[in-house]
Amino acid sequence: MKYKRILLKLSGEALAGEAGYGVTHDVLNQISEEVKDLVEMGVEVAIVVGGGNIHRGVAGATRGMDRTSSDHMGMLATVINALAMQDSLEQKGVFTRVMSAIDMQEICEPYIRRRAERHLEKKRVVIFAAGTGNPYFTTDTAAALRANEIDAQVIFKATKVDGIYDKDPMKYDDAVKFDQLKYIDVLNKGIKVMDSAAISLCMDNEMEIVVFNMFENGNIAKAVRGEAIGTKVIK
Ligand code: UDP
Repeated sequence: MKYKRILLKLSGEALAGEAGYGVTHDVLNQISEEVKDLVEMGVEVAIVVGGGNIHRGVAGATRGMDRTSSDHMGMLATVINALAMQDSLEQKGVFTRVMSAIDMQEICEPYIRRRAERHLEKKRVVIFAAGTGNPYFTTDTAAALRANEIDAQVIFKATKVDGIYDKDPMKYDDAVKFDQLKYIDVLNKGIKVMDSAAISLCMDNEMEIVVFNMFENGNIAKAVRGEAIGTKVIK
């Protein structure tokens, strides 16, 4: 195995599946099967969940809401997703802890770095909820931040397509897939992988990112073995 400790970034959109909104049971089931396989392979897995399937701060602000309040709603949306993910994993017998960047101790643990690392060492899956805990950030940035904090070797970014393309492969037949990209090229060319704050944080700390289709059976195991899959973003 190439990676022993990974951080998996799941966007809200990924959890919603075809429905496009809310959480889809089948999708959760599929993801937790893959995560269970990873845990059984001995990989330490941390997950950052997004919230875009329920609420996005920017969208609320565009409709005239106060941006900070709207971002607070977005962060709470990630907690809903984290609890759904936890439930699905636990139904498969995978020990899981949700740690939130915003205190809500009746529902989940507060984020404490050393405790998160201890959970990982004990082979519990740790789900980081509520992003960074701050408005004006995204869960991509939370993924970059937490991955560095817990010394993950890589960020796996699960998408519906099999990597990063020069243009939207859903719209253009002639879209070309990149096997590897440099952080700086992602930033300069404005390629939509993660937002620029997240990419910068990864670039400054040489945190590798692998973007791939997690919904193709067995892909995640291939990614962990370091097989060429999806697109790698590196130095
Ligand atoms: N959010 C935030 N601070 C953070 C992370 C998230 O304010 O550190 C809010 C923000 O409003 C964002 C929403 O939570 O739009 C949902 O997160 P995101 O858009 O990153 O979810 P994803 O696109 O991964 O589904």
